[in-house]
Amino acid sequence: MIKIEVDMDLCQHYGQCVFEAPNLFKLNDDDKLEYHAEADDSELENVEAAVDVCPMQAIRIVE
Ligand code: SF4
Repeated sequence: MIKIEVDMDLCQHYGQCVFEAPNLFKLNDDDKLEYHAEADDSELENVEAAVDVCPMQAIRIVE
């Protein structure tokens, strides 16, 4: 199990993470980011890609 944290003070809701890990990140109807704080290990590569691509470096893998 992967735990994910997004610093919502940093997040600008650009949505790049949504393209990398669409199972975990999405923009809601108000164009605000929503995400799953826990993900299956099979998502690790996608989450790492989302961490790398986030222009605000707002995403962290906690454990
Ligand atoms: S890529 Fe980063 S700044 Fe953009 S929505 Fe995702 S967490 Fe927020």
